[in-house]
Amino acid sequence: MNVSSSAGMVPVSTLGTPRIGPRRELKAALESYWSGRTDQSALLDIAARLRAANWARQKALGVTNIPSNDFSLYDHVLDTAVMVGAIPEAYGWTGGPVPLDTYFAMARGSEGDEPASCAPAICAHGHDHGRHTGVPALEMTKWFDTNYHYMVPEFVTGQRFTLASSKAVDEYREAKALGYDTRPVLLGPVTFLKLGKAKQPGLDPLSLLGDLLPVYVEVLRRLSASGAEWVQMDEPCLVLDLDEPTRAALRETYGFFAHALPKLKIMLTSYFGGLSANLDTALALPVAGLHLDLVRAPEQLAEVSAKARAGLVLSLGVIDGRNVWRADLPKLVDALAPVVRRRGIDHVQIAPSCSLLHVPIDLAQETALDADVKSWLAFAVQKMEELTTLATALAGNSEAVADRLAASGAAAQARRTSAKVHNPVVAARMAAVTPEMTRRGSPFAQRAAVQRQRFGLPAFPTTTIGSFPQTSEVRKARAAHGRGELSDRAYEDFLREETAATIRWQEEIGLDVLVHGEFERNDMVQYFGEQLAGFAFTRHGWVQSYGSRYVRPPILFGDVARPAPMTVEWWRYAQDCTDRPIKGMLTGPVTILNWSFVRDDVPRSLACRQIALAIRDEVADLEAAGAAMIQIDEAAIREGLPLRRADWDAYLDWAVESFRLCASGVSNATQIHTHMCYSEFNDIIAAIGAMDADVISIETSRSKMELLDAFVSYRYPNEIGPGVYDIHSPRVPTVEEMAELLAKATQRLVPEQIWVNPDCGLKTRKWEEVRPALVNMVAAAHRLRGDLARAAE
Ligand code: GLN
Ligand code: ZN
Repeated sequence: MNVSSSAGMVPVSTLGTPRIGPRRELKAALESYWSGRTDQSALLDIAARLRAANWARQKALGVTNIPSNDFSLYDHVLDTAVMVGAIPEAYGWTGGPVPLDTYFAMARGSEGDEPASCAPAICAHGHDHGRHTGVPALEMTKWFDTNYHYMVPEFVTGQRFTLASSKAVDEYREAKALGYDTRPVLLGPVTFLKLGKAKQPGLDPLSLLGDLLPVYVEVLRRLSASGAEWVQMDEPCLVLDLDEPTRAALRETYGFFAHALPKLKIMLTSYFGGLSANLDTALALPVAGLHLDLVRAPEQLAEVSAKARAGLVLSLGVIDGRNVWRADLPKLVDALAPVVRRRGIDHVQIAPSCSLLHVPIDLAQETALDADVKSWLAFAVQKMEELTTLATALAGNSEAVADRLAASGAAAQARRTSAKVHNPVVAARMAAVTPEMTRRGSPFAQRAAVQRQRFGLPAFPTTTIGSFPQTSEVRKARAAHGRGELSDRAYEDFLREETAATIRWQEEIGLDVLVHGEFERNDMVQYFGEQLAGFAFTRHGWVQSYGSRYVRPPILFGDVARPAPMTVEWWRYAQDCTDRPIKGMLTGPVTILNWSFVRDDVPRSLACRQIALAIRDEVADLEAAGAAMIQIDEAAIREGLPLRRADWDAYLDWAVESFRLCASGVSNATQIHTHMCYSEFNDIIAAIGAMDADVISIETSRSKMELLDAFVSYRYPNEIGPGVYDIHSPRVPTVEEMAELLAKATQRLVPEQIWVNPDCGLKTRKWEEVRPALVNMVAAAHRLRGDLARAAE
């Protein structure tokens, strides 16, 4: 059987591939370069080898439209900014090719002191550890609804664009020299502008389009002159709610390209959703091909194939590029065969829903995974095989791939019926969930009265968010334990000592509500996933979070159950060390869900509710063990917001319900805390109110308390700890600074509502920074207490 002969199949694209290397080679090369251990040529050499390996792999697997310029040393949006010369003045670029160190300064800040290692879960939501010396890095934010983060381009009034990098053309030629005729990938100009940020308030980035387009045309012209027949233009903004000016910008852009380069064929892609209200706009653009995300929005196929003009090549994104599940190929063949027949095999292409950037590279490396679970998965390499199998079958050559089709169908069938996936006990519990289970015994005001009585805390009580520095000793001990070089006993003793010492220190400096420090946790999601039934973990399943930061998301494959308590023993140990309250510390269901690869055979809402039931059990066990305060972190609630407004309410409804389900089984006297470490609350403040946590801690220090405004205008009634210490910076805030922030908070909230805490957990910081900062924080709280007492006199 030879599936790699393109004659026998519909053309196959990948849209983009993981850049990091099967063994995280790129990370090693980058860190080595940044630390000065290797030079530029060593880095560029490894990058070139990774690209060559990517091309070779795709070729060997039968991919016909092999991409180039999908590689990036750091981020493809940053690459685009550099390509068009959108380089803020602060980086000191004066023209000519952009030096590598300017590029990395934009990515990481100059003299960026990247810590040797940092916990992926914190990084996964975009914190910029160690970017605070010299020129700061560009801002970073989430790429659509993925956990990939891009560098936010900056635009100024009078912004000029100019061709400043030949990367796209160079990589096309590099591939060509190796014998691969690739389809270069560019981030489209409209999405590029929309992802950027205007430095001046009145500036609309779209107004810069006219100046930007000639630079793109220059790149396209050079690509075409070098031999490229097709170019892939990514315009994922097409899946967002677009206003008329943006649609007009798309028409202007693709009209301009068609006019300037009538022979060049553009495959216009969008992904992470359907075209919906932008469908007619997209279909009317003068492009040669249109890619559709048919995993997220399968329903659009019927309308598109009915409306698309005959000559338009449709790229059918039917293999899930965002998730790790193996496809049911026979089912896809049946669904797609009529479309292929109608349009003809030279007017369709088979593709993943989006670039394969978002999935791990090769399942074959996972030798320790449960065999059944493994048989249900497909990583990038396996997805390429699926694409070519499907494309072969759709060209009428099913016999050539009969075995593969049969295996795919059998795996799908096995997964549908497996007892590892479907747990009748969980189903029964889910069916027994009642609305009462999502409500606390009494409204907040009554609970607060009981809790005040119980705890007798001073005004402005002080606490921290949970983790204390994960020092290199902690990480080394964990690694040694993982390798079997440190016994369970010795590791446990070590962790106990760290915990006890941290509790003693918190008492010494006078914190009111203590934490155990989370030294035993590798990651705030993984720690729980590893103890829950229904989750699997990979050894090498890394995906890029940002730059050289990769995460290994848990794989939620089945019904979730909690075989045994997960945190109670550690909590008990910690509480035995002190008379002050130790918060029980849990990760919330929405965060566990949003930072995992989630099953695609049930709605997200259902998976979330199952996790909530498991966490609810943990909350109950903590309470029974004596925990009086339990914190349930929901760091990822906001980032799970759907891309389109119309879908927000449904998401927030089930997200809030899940939180309430896990938090509401306790008595009025048990205080439920939650924590959210980000800034933008305006959009979701009603949902946060509906979560009804007794205390919420949030990140407010960098915005100088402005973020509290959402809570003020909403009249948020429960208690709030507005972060007064920016934990993303090594800088130690002064007493004055923090007292001033607290004073600002008192202008917005009633003093009884206010807690005093840092912005987030302290795991990425050093003790040398944390110690003085928290001493100052406690002093700031004391100062406010004094002010309050004087005001009462
Ligand atoms: N309790 C966690 C910690 O302190 C919370 C981290 C987070 O919200 N990202 O590390
Ligand atoms: Zn946080």
